[in-house]
Amino acid sequence: MDQELNNIDFQELRDKAYMLRYELFDDLEKHLLKIEEALQKNGVKVSWAQDEQSLYGEIAACLPQSSYNTATLDLDNFNDLPLGDNILNTYPLEDIINHHQNVDTLIVNADYAISSTGEMVFIDRKSQHCFNKISNLVVVLNIDQIVASHEDLDVFLYLRQCVNQNNVPKDLKFLSKSFDRVVQDDFQTSNSKGYSTEQVNVSVILYENNITPILRNNRLRDALFCIKCGKCMDVCPVAKVAGGVSPIELVKSTCLNPASHSQDIFQKTTLCGNCKEACPIGINFTDLLIYVMNMINEKTNNTKSKKLLSIIHKRGKLNKYNSPILRWYLVKKMFGKNRVLFDYFKHQKDTFFNLANKDNTEPSDESFEL
Ligand code: SF4
Repeated sequence: MDQELNNIDFQELRDKAYMLRYELFDDLEKHLLKIEEALQKNGVKVSWAQDEQSLYGEIAACLPQSSYNTATLDLDNFNDLPLGDNILNTYPLEDIINHHQNVDTLIVNADYAISSTGEMVFIDRKSQHCFNKISNLVVVLNIDQIVASHEDLDVFLYLRQCVNQNNVPKDLKFLSKSFDRVVQDDFQTSNSKGYSTEQVNVSVILYENNITPILRNNRLRDALFCIKCGKCMDVCPVAKVAGGVSPIELVKSTCLNPASHSQDIFQKTTLCGNCKEACPIGINFTDLLIYVMNMINEKTNNTKSKKLLSIIHKRGKLNKYNSPILRWYLVKKMFGKNRVLFDYFKHQKDTFFNLANKDNTEPSDESFEL
């Protein structure tokens, strides 16, 4: 398949990938139900979690019936689960890999799931080596990481490699049903082989992470098309200079939790357009970021954000001047009266002005609903 993909022009592939994501999210419910059905048919327990709180509840429900459980986590977004020490004690992954600890349960994120087959996909996850060392496996599947078929997965994995050579998967595991593991017998008789097998209980939690409002909004929906290649983080000047989250995480976290992240979106982007150019799915970040900024402004009526957004739009004008002194003069002239904004741009000047800005999209006056 890679050979076939090799022959396709990158832009063509990018357009294809965008369409695949578009079609999938247009009919996400159907794909989710297909996955649920396929897994249940294979004896896998499936449950749903809408938000973080219900995810904890579902994880707790998947643990063995005991007053004290031990677990190892291999989750992207959680270092710890607030389930209470009396319920869950967690151990590092290395402890089970190195046989230092027996745990009841392994809780792991799936990287993708394929709706046509009901398979969950694990890419280069160290925890895969532990699948035969535990009795309970709980898989958390973020519903925006579903793909329709193996062919689609090939396209996305290939694109991840195209934009980042380190993204070549070394170890790919597909899991669609409960499986048996080998356990050593405590007592050996002349008839025993010295080992027996026991079934590993596999549970899957389909985790919505509150994305329904994003899904319903045609403009915001693109934010869910991300295939986690990490490229937008690599090319983001703010992330390079100040560290922090990737542009796509910035958009998503602001949409998911506007109250706590409303100002981040103004402080952590220069709208340089680098992420838009680099994204292998062709997510239009500039439009997306401006849309979210406008949305926040509508909701909060924050004067500081409004000024920042209007200044961001003037960046194209300032970029026409190559002289650092002239730029400095313009910044001082335009924003000198406002200490906060002046300081902001003073510190941003390298990343803000040294970029070849291609995008001068004007803010629109639309109303925004989330
Ligand atoms: S949004 Fe960022 S991480 Fe996601 S596919 Fe595009 S470049 Fe990669």
